[in-house]
Amino acid sequence: MTERFNGSFTQQEPIPDAGIKAAMAVMQSGRLHRYNTHGDEIAEAALLEEEFAAQVGSNYCLAVASGGYAMTTALRACGVKHGDRVLTNAFTLAPVPGAIAAVGGVPVFVGVTESLVIDLDDLAAKLDQAKVLLLSHMRGHICDMDALMAMCDAAGVVVIEDCAHTMGAAWNGVPSGRWGKFGCYSTQTYKHVNSGEGGLLISDDAEGMARAIMLSGSYMLYEKHRAAPPPEVFAHIKYETPNISGRMDNLRAAILRPQLQDLQTQCDRWNALYAVVDEGLADTPGLTLVPRPTQESFVASSHQFLLLDWSDAAIADVIARCEARGVALKWFGGAEPTGFTSRYDSWKYAPSEPMPQSDRILKGIIDMRLPLTFSTDDCALIARIIRSEVSQSINRPDTTGSSRSTSSRTLGSARTHAPDKSAYCFPDQKCV
Ligand SMILES: *Cc1c(COP(=O)(O)O)cnc(C)c1O
Repeated sequence: MTERFNGSFTQQEPIPDAGIKAAMAVMQSGRLHRYNTHGDEIAEAALLEEEFAAQVGSNYCLAVASGGYAMTTALRACGVKHGDRVLTNAFTLAPVPGAIAAVGGVPVFVGVTESLVIDLDDLAAKLDQAKVLLLSHMRGHICDMDALMAMCDAAGVVVIEDCAHTMGAAWNGVPSGRWGKFGCYSTQTYKHVNSGEGGLLISDDAEGMARAIMLSGSYMLYEKHRAAPPPEVFAHIKYETPNISGRMDNLRAAILRPQLQDLQTQCDRWNALYAVVDEGLADTPGLTLVPRPTQESFVASSHQFLLLDWSDAAIADVIARCEARGVALKWFGGAEPTGFTSRYDSWKYAPSEPMPQSDRILKGIIDMRLPLTFSTDDCALIARIIRSEVSQSINRPDTTGSSRSTSSRTLGSARTHAPDKSAYCFPDQKCV
């Protein structure tokens, strides 16, 4: 019998009861705006900032409207202006170059290695092109941060970390987000804590954080913040920093605070699911797993593997056949951006130089979410399904080889083998 998986790759767990209760209390008070406090009441947003700063060991924290907003605010607070070039990863998601574009900056893309981290050799070659690096720990893969910081410090390049996929993770014992001048987190539904939308920004830099607080729309009420620099730091910047509203409200903060307390438990659960998938896929011919260095304490809320040097048609075929058995895989290398998959050369507003070595890797990246509503048995089943479909494909003659020149013949064969017409992309075509 052919096994099938019936779970949903986009179903998160419910908000914990403590979060629902705290949210009800905020709604009953009517004081949802973070500066709308009664007497000596401390706003949920201010408490969240204080607790997250303590959790990661930063001096300061600011709660904002989204992860994207956290990144644009960090870029502005670092002085990035219209026309400035900003280094960033070629392997990342659309909100990252989008944050650079939002401040009028020009992304300079840096390549990706087979370990799915930023290519430090390519970075070294491009370091003189910009004053800021917006480093994306894409899908939770953390590069050698000791080496990266040494390079950037020596070149005078300021590092801002995009930790949308690394909340709870660390390199060499130092939490992700604590290496650069700013760490940016998302609390959007698909990240490690869930408030629907939201973001957190951390820093040890007093002036940088004072600017960020002013930027986020503090209406000169910065003294109501707790994980913030003292009032005198604001004295000389409060007249020259524009208000670009993007605050977090007390309702979201209330939902998040109990989740942060559970973060470590959740991270351990994600890693248990990941281990089962990784083990189930080990030694599958044609499939490359991503090595995880011992210095990296990762949080695996998703799983990636590579189908390196496979033809576009064969990759599309595997994805279609897994989909037909209930396993939703995403292909980063697809010719058309679909859903959250995206390729640096599909962001036409940000011109890029071709990067053949990175293109080869990006083309082969297959990505899968691991929501905590999955059990380890679910993950073992998912791995068996992927393994059997990949193994069947690798034995066919057109699986590897020239990919760009996919002929209509191989395209035709991909279709023949695709029992399910659900959404995925054929090479060089619109999604069907
Ligand atoms: C989700 C995400 C963000 C931004 O988060 P939003 O809260 O959706 O703005 C940034 N970087 C990466 C890599 C992400 O996946």
